[in-house]
Amino acid sequence: MATGSNSLIWFRKGLRIHDNPALEHAAKGSDFLYPVFVIDPHYMEPDVTAFSPGSKRAGLNRIRFLLESLVDLDLSLKRLGSRLLVLKGEPSQVLIRCLKEWSINKLCFEYDTDPYYQALGNQVKSYASAAGIEIFSPVSHTLFNPADIIQKNGGRPPLSYQSFIKLAGEPSWASSPVSNGLSWLPPVGNCSTTEVLSMEELGYHDSEEDERTPFKGGELEALRRLRESLSNKEWVANFEKPKGDPSAFLSPATTVLSPYLKFGCLSSRYFYQCIQGIQRSVKKHTSPPVSLLGQLLWRDFFYTVAFGTPNFDRMKDNRICKQIPWKNDDELLAAWRDGRTGFPWIDAIMVQLHKWGWMHHLARHCVACFLTRGDLFVHWEKGRDVFERLLIDSDWAINNGNWLWLSCSSFFYQYNRIYSPISFGKKYDPNGNYIRHFLPVLKDMPKEYIYEPWTAPLSIQINAKCIIGKDYPKPVVSHDSASKECKQILYEAYELNKKLNGMVSEEDLKNLR
Ligand code: FAD
Repeated sequence: MATGSNSLIWFRKGLRIHDNPALEHAAKGSDFLYPVFVIDPHYMEPDVTAFSPGSKRAGLNRIRFLLESLVDLDLSLKRLGSRLLVLKGEPSQVLIRCLKEWSINKLCFEYDTDPYYQALGNQVKSYASAAGIEIFSPVSHTLFNPADIIQKNGGRPPLSYQSFIKLAGEPSWASSPVSNGLSWLPPVGNCSTTEVLSMEELGYHDSEEDERTPFKGGELEALRRLRESLSNKEWVANFEKPKGDPSAFLSPATTVLSPYLKFGCLSSRYFYQCIQGIQRSVKKHTSPPVSLLGQLLWRDFFYTVAFGTPNFDRMKDNRICKQIPWKNDDELLAAWRDGRTGFPWIDAIMVQLHKWGWMHHLARHCVACFLTRGDLFVHWEKGRDVFERLLIDSDWAINNGNWLWLSCSSFFYQYNRIYSPISFGKKYDPNGNYIRHFLPVLKDMPKEYIYEPWTAPLSIQINAKCIIGKDYPKPVVSHDSASKECKQILYEAYELNKKLNGMVSEEDLKNLR
């Protein structure tokens, strides 16, 4: 066991200085502090077989956002007399090597409920505790500790938002301000590591020609965005999620703080306290589930259910997931994924996902419903994989939770309520500006036809320089008949789930197809 006071903070998420209990504990009473981030090949290894640039598990936008966040963290650490040590390799092996080489006697890292990070954390923890190293792993990524809520509920996660809210109550830390950072950090001990790597050094080609995501990573940008979003108190007080316009892209209808919360560039607790401060200063404000505070509670709700549900990320052996005979149609999946369904509203949203790595919540609703129970009847796990790779805010608990929801596999069961791929977007954006931006091939299509260009007479298509079936695809299904068929299969699957009390076998599902 080491004799000096050498600490190591292992950054995974929590890429920030403010409200970072693991960092503060690591700094306290230490002679030397080693702030480490490990570039994990599991997420970062370039993969040429992937359907668009990036690694197998992460698209370019998320990789770039992470690197920007690391550069920003490094700058902040430098301002405090420290710096970020970037290493590459399988994280638990890298960490264990560091603990040995640098004679670490205090290891700090934020607790993470994501199963992949749990497994890594456990490997490192078991080495550290055997070596007599102090371990500090606080819950600071979420508002609540999911384990506490599950315990309060008798060992099972609450399965509705309302029961979650009742159990959760007011967070214990809500009345005292969370820490807004540190003024000094112990120096880094003697070691040789690299600076934050660039996209090119990681093997990625970052083309200047493509439309880039407007969202830049880092704590500095997160706090700037937070200030900007909350500067309009009236907007915060009257926030009602279902009323937001999903087609507003130049000035999105919501905060776009999800990428920053995902990487922990922004503390959800700090965000919560800022909203609470505004709510206390106004006469009237909206309430959960639709309020802005209510959105943060949705995040914690999904974290809690995900943490307490074995096999949460799949249909098989998942006790909260309805068993449904989804189709495995790779052609339909690829058409959806690549924005080639022939439904401009759906395709524009998928193009926004590729280009920006972010879309409005209701836009996500529309494409997830379309892929699964609305039109194509493709397995929700396939859509989940596409989102998981391409979203900058890609989050294991929230993404799986919402796909379960949208496919009517769990939480929400009104399968007769389907988003129309034609009329839903039109309500918000009758001129089709969103479609014209993300699908420039349709930019000259008259507004009467922009949501259903296949109905435009040939002369109009010629004038708009967009021939349907040549320049832009014909619809892959007829929405009316496809949605009727989906509802019928769902009705039969629900009946079977009821009859067999959820114990539906693969054979039973085959018979429904
Ligand atoms: P705001 O409305 O400004 O809300 C503030 C914060 O509250 C968000 O940043 C987010 O952290 C949280 N939040 C808002 N809505 C939800 C919600 N429904 N569930 C959980 N937390 C919420 N969100 C992710 O962060 N990561 C994902 O991987 C993800 N996958 C999704 C997949 C599908 C199919 C759907 C329908 C939704 C998904 N969402 C996901 C939820 C939601 O769409 C995004 O959190 C939201 O659009 C982010 O934009 P915002 O930051 O402007 O949200």
